[in-house]
Amino acid sequence: MSPKYKIGSILIVIFMIVVAWGYLGRGLEIGREDEHAYANLLPLTATAGSLSSFNFETNLKSYTINVPNNILIIKDDIISHNSTLTFDSPMDNLQLLLPPTVDGSFPIHISKGSFEVSFQVTVKEDAGALVSGDEYHDYMRTFTTRYAKRSTGYPHMEQAASYLEQQLKSFKLDTEIQRFQQENRDVLNVIGYHRGINRPEEWVVLGGHYDIKEKTIEGAYDNAAGTVAVLEIAKAISQMKTDRTIVLCLWSGEEQGLWGSEFFVNNIPENVTIKAYLNYDMVGLNWPQVYQLNVLVGPDENGAEVENPELLNVSNRVIDEILRYPSSGFDVKETGEGSSDQVSFWPIGVSTIYFSGLIVYPGYHNKVDDLATMEVLAGGRERLKEGFETVVWVSYYAVILLDNDELIKQKDT
Ligand SMILES: [Zn+2]
Repeated sequence: MSPKYKIGSILIVIFMIVVAWGYLGRGLEIGREDEHAYANLLPLTATAGSLSSFNFETNLKSYTINVPNNILIIKDDIISHNSTLTFDSPMDNLQLLLPPTVDGSFPIHISKGSFEVSFQVTVKEDAGALVSGDEYHDYMRTFTTRYAKRSTGYPHMEQAASYLEQQLKSFKLDTEIQRFQQENRDVLNVIGYHRGINRPEEWVVLGGHYDIKEKTIEGAYDNAAGTVAVLEIAKAISQMKTDRTIVLCLWSGEEQGLWGSEFFVNNIPENVTIKAYLNYDMVGLNWPQVYQLNVLVGPDENGAEVENPELLNVSNRVIDEILRYPSSGFDVKETGEGSSDQVSFWPIGVSTIYFSGLIVYPGYHNKVDDLATMEVLAGGRERLKEGFETVVWVSYYAVILLDNDELIKQKDT
């Protein structure tokens, strides 16, 4: 090798060392990147009981966002179960779901390694919240007066069914009317589908019966209240994307013996699995009034054994941790009691939650079951609206938590 080539080789080696050093240098530069890191968030206000949106700016390539455990972070347009989440790519918009009970202010922490910044966000009144007792009450008045005498097989049932379908359509849900005959009566289920993005064949089903006993006229508590609860939950859910398909059902033939829900259960498409069923029958006369909201998890075949831990966990987390309602206002328990539509789902192995309020109701299956009676028992119209809101908020969050399985993993490990 001539001295000329020798010098050339040495230069190449030196060059390669410099290149390699450059790569190593980048690895060592993380500390330096943190020094120049920044994150900005605006506005520093948010609305209680709503999806709140912030403009977010950062030069961090990955980062962790942390908020109090009653606030949920939205990731990829889906409301997550989490109050702490790591993001691996930049985003210019941060969305949070605030419960109606959050007030004052709360912190948002953004961090990566040694870099940490906090923003204090002021909470505004819940005007424009996802759930509205006023709207619930308006629906109740319309449905109980315009669609009175809607017993199964009666002409008013047809009219009630098409009204309910229209409402579900107005929330941009796909709808279906299941029509069949039983004991010479036409039975009509009204169903809305909010299609899941990632697991459309896995369903979370909610339902309440809209038919009434023949002796009843308006059937306000039994069960316009449960019918409107399903509508209001449908409306809130329609404003977000979900992993699974959420199915909103309005049954008829309940008073004859659960005809509608039984027909539905016997006609589930083969590729579909049902994660859970939530039932609404006689709701609204409940907390924050003097009556408890019964949150009855079933079935319960072996008394002492907990058979549906997930639904109990979901109910407790929603009420205690997220909504932070006083537990004295709620009776959360596993029980095989109750004879409403949830019973139809037990033979196919589906766990259920049955929501109901005051049980000893003077208007039960008689002419006194109207909105005025409910208002008196609630202690006034405003108190009744608050009772309705409780039911819809608990259900809305239960659906979010049932939409994927992170919660069970979290609780079990
Ligand atoms: Zn009923």
